[in-house]
Amino acid sequence: MTHESKLPNIETTIFAVMSGLANKYGALNLSQGYPNFKGDQKLYDLVNAAMNSGYNQYAHMYGSQDLRLAIKNKVELLYKTTYDPETEITVTVGATQAIYTTISTFIKKGDEVIVFRPAYDSYIPSIQINRGIPVSIQLLKPDFRIDWEDVKQKINSKTKMIIINSPHNPSGTMLTKDDMLKLQELTKNTNIVVLSDEVYEHLVFDNEQHLSACMFPDLKSRSFVISSLGKTFHNTGWKIGYCCAPKHLMDEFIKLHQFTVFSVNHPTQKGIADYMQEPEHYLEIPQFFQRKRDLFLDAMKNSRFKFTPSKGTYFQLLDYSEITDENDFEFAKRLIVEHGVASIPTSVFNKNKLDQKVLRFCFAKTDETLIEATKILTKL
Ligand code: PMP
Ligand code: GLN
Repeated sequence: MTHESKLPNIETTIFAVMSGLANKYGALNLSQGYPNFKGDQKLYDLVNAAMNSGYNQYAHMYGSQDLRLAIKNKVELLYKTTYDPETEITVTVGATQAIYTTISTFIKKGDEVIVFRPAYDSYIPSIQINRGIPVSIQLLKPDFRIDWEDVKQKINSKTKMIIINSPHNPSGTMLTKDDMLKLQELTKNTNIVVLSDEVYEHLVFDNEQHLSACMFPDLKSRSFVISSLGKTFHNTGWKIGYCCAPKHLMDEFIKLHQFTVFSVNHPTQKGIADYMQEPEHYLEIPQFFQRKRDLFLDAMKNSRFKFTPSKGTYFQLLDYSEITDENDFEFAKRLIVEHGVASIPTSVFNKNKLDQKVLRFCFAKTDETLIEATKILTKL
């Protein structure tokens, strides 16, 4: 049987490729974004308790009532705005499903979607499978700032969606208030939907504040705000996330969600909902990761890599242009095979695979792993 591929140019995700190589060569894995340490035992106990006390059948299709309420309370506490948990919050199979379903709900053949590159690697295929057209705007090292004049030029009657991601994977930069106001201004009086990928909302350093799209009223009225509870609570393998959007947008989202997912793993939802009753559990996350970032960067000061400290996410870009001319993929592979440290080459996230000679390192790792990795990297 032969068939025409619907995604002829899509390659295996870089996260599977680099973690695969890290495993094959026994390298320290600072590539894929996940912690190599356990989450909080209290959370595991709550999920177990939920399972043992009967939360084992289908949850409500928008998500368990308890979890939607916990999300509503968190958003109110952090961003001083409210979503109706009955109609405006949906729990999803990780942020990835929220992203895919949002795009599939709104993007039709020929619709244009503005994507800032480097971009998380699920955005473009999710647009293309729906026959939409990604319109890429390349951001450049070291500050990866958005030129809003350029965005203005690219908006036209076919523009259906703009995807933003702050804190930004892989650059570790954040959108400022001025950025958010510019986006709000440019989309005012249009039908553009904003997909705001905020999976690293709790990983913000140096006393900066994460600015959610829901804090800006006109932006909120057109946005899906997407987050990842797997990322937030150190359990990426649980694949649990959520999105918030105004009712008229969520009504459309749920039409697709109900027939692709229906509802998400119930005991995990219940356990996380109980865990979120104590806001400290998410309020303490920045300090935890800032210490790890600083541990990693203090050691890297003595290396030939150049860097601007990550402002958010648990990723740090390291510029290796003083070490070698190799392209980033070749260098990342050699780092694994010859030196035993795995990272992510960032060209795969760029327009036309632009090679900016920066690798992404994940510092959500034990102190031992980070110290061992820096010992190797500082010798290069
Ligand atoms: N968006 C970004 C920017 C990410 O880095 C990730 C990876 N966590 C996701 C979305 C997907 O999150 P999840 O694992 O919850 O599907
Ligand atoms: N978000 C994670 C990263 O950026 C990986 C997610 C995945 O492997 N799909 O590393």
